[in-house]
Amino acid sequence: MMKELKEILQTILKEKKGYLTFLTGAGISAESGLPTYRSIDGILIKGTKYHRPEEFGTYRYFSQNQEEVWQYNLFWKNMIEEAKPNAGHFAITEIEKLLGERFKLITQNVDGLHQRSGTRKVYEIHGSKQKVRCSKGCSEPFDFPENIQAKEYTEDLTPDDIDDLKCKKCGNWLRPHTLWFDESYNEKYYHFDTAYHIADNTDILFVVGTSGSTALPINIVETVKIRAKWIVLINPDNDTHFDYILRGSKTLCSIQESSSVALPQLKRIIEEILK
Ligand SMILES: [Zn+2]
Repeated sequence: MMKELKEILQTILKEKKGYLTFLTGAGISAESGLPTYRSIDGILIKGTKYHRPEEFGTYRYFSQNQEEVWQYNLFWKNMIEEAKPNAGHFAITEIEKLLGERFKLITQNVDGLHQRSGTRKVYEIHGSKQKVRCSKGCSEPFDFPENIQAKEYTEDLTPDDIDDLKCKKCGNWLRPHTLWFDESYNEKYYHFDTAYHIADNTDILFVVGTSGSTALPINIVETVKIRAKWIVLINPDNDTHFDYILRGSKTLCSIQESSSVALPQLKRIIEEILK
């Protein structure tokens, strides 16, 4: 498979136009020890009470239970701070250096591990857990206030935390800068139009550690598929929704490998072609 991929990449890199795009999801961060959204909710069952992600991860729920949602997010902040980028993240950073402007990275992840590994151009289509914004929309997203400490999931917010989690301009709650289940994608916060623009100009799309359970990633893949450009699935699991929608495609290359194994190999292939 890697040999076939090398030939495809040789042709694409000779062209000197069109993007080489990476679309990453939870699978790449799972290798850094970060559980997926659904598996983390198992912890909440022990901590407080059980919520289905589709119910808990909503603006509607937040608007009625701000403290609980923040408590949960501060626990997540803790896990993210302890996680480290892995070989897959670092390989993508090296690939960006090799490809320059032709490199694009769209990520569903909200953990910031791509930036921490050194990748510069990252489009976070589901937002970032390292940023907050006013829940009433009066501020642009900004970095997490420094004095707010990460927590264990059983720890309550202190009065100081609550104070720090209020908007300095209007006094309403700040919110995590992430897309909730009952919200829509948009360009302002989630690079919606940019993601389509990238898909439209992509010559090869690497789909890494994502199974295709959310709308925008599916649309990105379908856009590239309709244009008959190459799609490379990198996932140890070969029975995802993406495998299903791409079945029979003549421009599909499937690498059934974890991202920390496949991406360093891919980096070496690109390096060899370009030298
Ligand atoms: Zn505000």
